[in-house]
Amino acid sequence: MVSKTSIHMADCSCGLVSLVCRGEPVRSAVCHCFECQKRTGSVFGVQVRFLADQVSYNGELTQYTRVADSGNTVTYHFCPRCSTTMLMKLSAAPDSVVVPIGIFSDHDFPPPSFSVYEQRKQGWVKFDCQIELFD
Ligand SMILES: [Zn+2]
Ligand SMILES: [Zn+2]
Repeated sequence: MVSKTSIHMADCSCGLVSLVCRGEPVRSAVCHCFECQKRTGSVFGVQVRFLADQVSYNGELTQYTRVADSGNTVTYHFCPRCSTTMLMKLSAAPDSVVVPIGIFSDHDFPPPSFSVYEQRKQGWVKFDCQIELFD
């Protein structure tokens, strides 16, 4: 069998912006912090991290930069029309791009391997997979 580089495609809600990631993510994490809760409107975020050169997208993205608890910055890049967050860039990891897992059209990512900000987790949230605590 010929090995092929996997391609992960993602679109925003309105279809204006689409994003392509080539190859597999470097890591995948669940984050229970309040900012991920606000960003998603749900009780946690799940993000996959790629190297910046694995990720490309069409169109212009609107940006918002926030200072994290650590003092590092997180810049959100979102669709200017429907506000779907397409990617995030971390000042602490300038070679990486973080993509919310829910925007991908393929649903075969492995489960996340890290869980961040467990102390802010809603008490009823439980995962049926092995997740390492991180922080
Ligand atoms: Zn959109
Ligand atoms: Zn978070």
